[in-house]
Amino acid sequence: MTQTPTRTTYWLEHAWLSTHVEPGVTVEVGDGRITAVRDDTPAPPPGAEILRGLTLPGLANAHSHAFHRALRSTVQVGSGTFWTWREVMYSVAERLTPETYHELARAVYAEMALAGVTCVGEFHYVHHAPGGAPYADPNAMGEALIAAAAEAGIRITLLDTCYLSSGFGQPPTRHQLRFSDRTAEAWAERSALLKDRDHTRIGAAVHSVRAVPADQLGTVARWAEQRRAPLHVHLSEQTAENDACREAHGCTPARLLADHGVLGPRTTGVHNTHLTDEDIALIGRGSTGTCMCPTTERDLADGIGPATALQRAGSPLSLGSDSHAVIDLLAEARAMELNERLRTRTRGHWTAAALLRAATVDGHAALGWDDAGTIEPGALADLTTIALDSVRTAGPVPRLGAETAVFAATAADVRHTVVGGRHIVRDGVHTLLPEVPKALARAVEALRA
Ligand SMILES: [Zn+2]
Repeated sequence: MTQTPTRTTYWLEHAWLSTHVEPGVTVEVGDGRITAVRDDTPAPPPGAEILRGLTLPGLANAHSHAFHRALRSTVQVGSGTFWTWREVMYSVAERLTPETYHELARAVYAEMALAGVTCVGEFHYVHHAPGGAPYADPNAMGEALIAAAAEAGIRITLLDTCYLSSGFGQPPTRHQLRFSDRTAEAWAERSALLKDRDHTRIGAAVHSVRAVPADQLGTVARWAEQRRAPLHVHLSEQTAENDACREAHGCTPARLLADHGVLGPRTTGVHNTHLTDEDIALIGRGSTGTCMCPTTERDLADGIGPATALQRAGSPLSLGSDSHAVIDLLAEARAMELNERLRTRTRGHWTAAALLRAATVDGHAALGWDDAGTIEPGALADLTTIALDSVRTAGPVPRLGAETAVFAATAADVRHTVVGGRHIVRDGVHTLLPEVPKALARAVEALRA
């Protein structure tokens, strides 16, 4: 669905080529992939599609719960903690059906396309009907998300999530019954029915060490290993999770996951916030990835994770908008550096280029798309163009485009989004779903009723 059989030539006024910004770059696309890149073309070749501004590889949003978009702003009233926020989130989860989730997710993924996101990692755990009864198609909810991404024109890695318990040794609560397959074996059987397709990869997730009993972690890890699929896990987002894990197992969540084969180069720990030095070494040594979601982590008062230490230890960084308090991968990239400046009172922890790599090539790798996230021959033809003439981006010299993209631009500056050589956003307008704000309003309203 994301591929076009025709050949297209794009001319990029400025292109970020993973290390630097190059003016006047011509990109040839055939069958959805980049076939040639020429960087010595000051003027557009005849017939080329012109992308004015700074073109980046498509952005990867490595951690999403699409239905959290229905909570935007409404959860900003009052006080509380992650745990009180979670009660509100569960009340929305309870109202989802395959139809309402499809409608909401399509609008949310369209919002992502407008923000330059070409691939989303959907950490999906609302599997069954309220109360836990399976739908006639046991993957009706997952298929609704896959269809939503196709209709919004972006790629998806559906991280089908195993969620079996409310805490260590505790059954799911009433709200959590629809998340649970009861056993990891049953989760594995259901997930195995989902298949990769052009715009879709199927991956796995362990919701957290709270939600999957230790003796069943290996089943999920093996499922991912056999398929060489990405495996994600919420890891040490809250100190309460660490305390409960120590009480139940006498070790940290990272240690528990490592001992049950969950960590490794195809695994990504999401949040990785409250870690010991040993946890950081464990995660880094196995090249387990780190997905940070700094807007959500601030929003939920989680804390600031040791991302610089994790990267130094060998853990590649990816970024996600998670709860979708806002959907803006450039803001997520910027927040990494700015949070660290506040924490350390020094500047310069990441370069703009390093943060863009997290938002592009490393984010795609975390989602199982090793052939996306760069502008080079053979890569998937996924491109995101940032305006350099908006009120936010006008002024700086174009060769500092990476710095402008990370430290000045916002999602509102995304002018074009190309997925598999197909223009999904043109001049700031979604070409498949032109009324995205109305679709969002309608879908959110339907869940409030
Ligand atoms: Zn999450």
